[in-house]
Amino acid sequence: MNNIYDLTIVGLGPVGLFGSFYAGMRGLKTIALESRQEVGGALTAVYPDKFIYDMVGFPKIQAKKLIENLEAQSSHFDNDRRLGFKVDEIIKNSDNLFEVSCGSDTILSKSILVTTGMGAFTPRKLPLKNIEKYEAQENSGIVYIVRNKERYYGKKVVIIGGGNSALDWAHDFDGNSQSVSLIHALPNWQAHEDSIHKLETSNINVYQPFTVKEVIGEEKLEKIIIQNGKSKESIELEADLLLVNIGFLPSKTTFENIGLELNRSEIVVNPATMESTTVPGLFCAGDACSFDGKLKLICIGSAEAAIAVNNAATRIDSSAARKPKFSSAFFSKDMHKKEDQKSA
Ligand SMILES: Cc1cc2nc3c(=O)[nH]c(=O)nc-3n(C[C@H](O)[C@H](O)[C@H](O)COP(=O)(O)OP(=O)(O)OC[C@H]3O[C@@H](n4cnc5c(N)ncnc54)[C@H](O)[C@@H]3O)c2cc1C
Repeated sequence: MNNIYDLTIVGLGPVGLFGSFYAGMRGLKTIALESRQEVGGALTAVYPDKFIYDMVGFPKIQAKKLIENLEAQSSHFDNDRRLGFKVDEIIKNSDNLFEVSCGSDTILSKSILVTTGMGAFTPRKLPLKNIEKYEAQENSGIVYIVRNKERYYGKKVVIIGGGNSALDWAHDFDGNSQSVSLIHALPNWQAHEDSIHKLETSNINVYQPFTVKEVIGEEKLEKIIIQNGKSKESIELEADLLLVNIGFLPSKTTFENIGLELNRSEIVVNPATMESTTVPGLFCAGDACSFDGKLKLICIGSAEAAIAVNNAATRIDSSAARKPKFSSAFFSKDMHKKEDQKSA
């Protein structure tokens, strides 16, 4: 007989991680699958070093630190987890169990929580030939994600892009790095107004509309050649770092095969339960779900994960209370007992 889980969580971004913690609170036998080798979703893939200011109880917290905290929180429970497994299909079998292929294994569960957010992340690459040697390591010169911003303080930083991420990084490096240049191919920015206005009073060298034509350097990046899209004027810039922020290639799995109602590529749910409107037992939370009034924020997605897990618990066992125990009561009694048993 195959091992049957109560819940399979697909995607370990912030919402899946909190869902995993909550599944432990509800005593659900849970497995979580994540396509990347690293958990954290957008927070580790897109903006690990940025500060988040709208997390309940944190005046500010760095994105990667929030994920570390969520990891610590979910580690209160011994849920199974597999990293590096992208789920391409979910099937409901004749026993009403969900089936998900994971390598050579088939995972069976009574319910599913989809927390796949924006999908699996692949940064859009700089469309130039023979640049692999500059992308090989974080100190080779071309990076798509900043992991250690202090490494580039005091250096010559060039950033490509016109969105929030590119402008935020330009402002972050301004004053900390030897020089900051911002290159954008289009005449308009795709960023917040205040960030655009801040450019006027900054020391950032703005090149617009310019594109990168060539990157130069022996072992590491040394210079880049940029060209004005209108006048065709070329300029040579010295660079220790070229940060490419030109977006991500979509790699979203929508699991349509199982009969989900979708709004564009998002799973339509009943917000009272976070259950799919068409597939009973399949729940969805975070950026992957859709309902009237949906807000794509971490605090909201975390609440949706808690709602989903509580409803999954009563669906699996109709005698289980939908209202959970308060964590303060749970941890002070049951959990301490459990932890004492573990250490005995
Ligand atoms: C630059 C930027 C700044 C932001 N700042 C804030 C902020 O200050 N405050 C705030 O509240 N929100 C902020 N957000 C939004 C916030 O990051 C998202 O709302 C949040 O990440 C959603 O979490 P999630 O877990 O639903 O999805 P994601 O973070 O997208 O995580 C989804 C996870 O699922 C995995 N996955 C996807 N498909 C599969 C598959 N088929 N199989 C297995 N795994 C899969 C992915 O690899 C990923 O790890 C920001 C977003 C961006 C881009």
